[in-house]
Amino acid sequence: MEMSASNAQCEQKRLDALARYDILDTPREEAFDRITRLVRRILKVPMATVTFLDGHRQWFKAREGVANCEDERRIAFCDMTIRENAPLIVTDASADPRFASNPLVTGAPHLRFYAGIPLRTSEGQNIGTLCALGTAPRAIDPGEIAILSDLASIVMNELELRLLASTDGLTGALARRAFREEAARALALAQRHRHEVSCIAFDLDHFKTINDTHGHAAGDAVLSGTAATCRNLLRQSDLFGRIGGEEFAVLLPHTGRDAALGVAEKLREAIAAQRFDGTDGPFTATASFGIAAAAPSGDIDALLRAADEALYAAKETGRNRCVVNQTGLSAGASLGRRVLKAGSIVFNGGKSVIDCTVRRLSEQGASLAVTSTAGVPERFKLAIEADAFSRACQIARKAGTEIDVQFAA
Ligand code: GH3
Ligand code: MG
Ligand code: MG
Repeated sequence: MEMSASNAQCEQKRLDALARYDILDTPREEAFDRITRLVRRILKVPMATVTFLDGHRQWFKAREGVANCEDERRIAFCDMTIRENAPLIVTDASADPRFASNPLVTGAPHLRFYAGIPLRTSEGQNIGTLCALGTAPRAIDPGEIAILSDLASIVMNELELRLLASTDGLTGALARRAFREEAARALALAQRHRHEVSCIAFDLDHFKTINDTHGHAAGDAVLSGTAATCRNLLRQSDLFGRIGGEEFAVLLPHTGRDAALGVAEKLREAIAAQRFDGTDGPFTATASFGIAAAAPSGDIDALLRAADEALYAAKETGRNRCVVNQTGLSAGASLGRRVLKAGSIVFNGGKSVIDCTVRRLSEQGASLAVTSTAGVPERFKLAIEADAFSRACQIARKAGTEIDVQFAA
């Protein structure tokens, strides 16, 4: 995307808002499917989506009648919708100069009708859209727009309530924000009394494959079972939170690094020993662990980041293992802290540009998501406009739609 520097900064604020809801790449859920089903039935359209706009793509949390789960952002009608604070209505895309040559119009799914309502946060960021789509020209009346707008508000309410909830419905663990707040309090207390405190972050291994192989219900059973297993092993005074889809964190008061590693090992073994019912017989799951001890000063975010970096190193070195962050910060993992930034892969002397989302970033390298790795050369320049950042880099690893790069010295 071509943007001016200030546009890039506005876009970064929008992506920061989106990141807070932690909704990208989560599985289908009835709470959102219900909304797209209603849109389809009430408006009598063949397609409806709940869409979120990531750095480089539009991703559908819910979709009715739509085959893909994501599209390049460049061609997304919804990318135009989020730039306005009003509904975007296109009654006949073929006759609309803005969209007539759009590949979603000239090719599958052959869009002709589009009605999109921005999904707007309480701070005024448009993180996504609720859309009604059709393959024939269609008019829309104010009553229908009002219905769509109400349904869009219901989507946002659902997201806001999840942020406010202190426990997570599926696992009973503390929800991310509540965990962060309680952990921050416990950390401050420990620092004041000069007690040791450690943090464990863990993430289930190849969870996408578990979902794909055994279905989301089995995936959910792994999540709730794993949470129960961990809570049984932890102390009452430990804080246990679900901080992402299949990612958990534990804050251990009065516990140093070595003891925390012992706890993590115990959790790791107990998780690996669980048996779950799959489509063809029982299956098992494993998790990777990162451990960090709190520095005498330093806040909860730094501690979580240190544990997360060690966790990432555990993933990189084979999974189903525990890695301790020895230095407190920035050890082990080369790909650094988690971010959500719009980036560009620039090559061919600046003539070729592929949009990407930067998901991790460090001094040494970055982890990028793209809609397709086809056509991405071994060496290119990574640009992040919002940060006025530009570095030559080389591909270190490619998997699916993810690319890890190393920066040139
Ligand atoms: P890795 O070992 O590198 O962690 O691989 P992974 O497949 O676990 O990692 P990735 O982050 O690519 O995939 C996480 C998956 O977790 C994607 C998402 O669909 C799934 N997931 C997130 N939240 C839930 C949930 O609440 N229920 C279920 N069933 N799956 C979930
Ligand atoms: Mg995982
Ligand atoms: Mg994960």
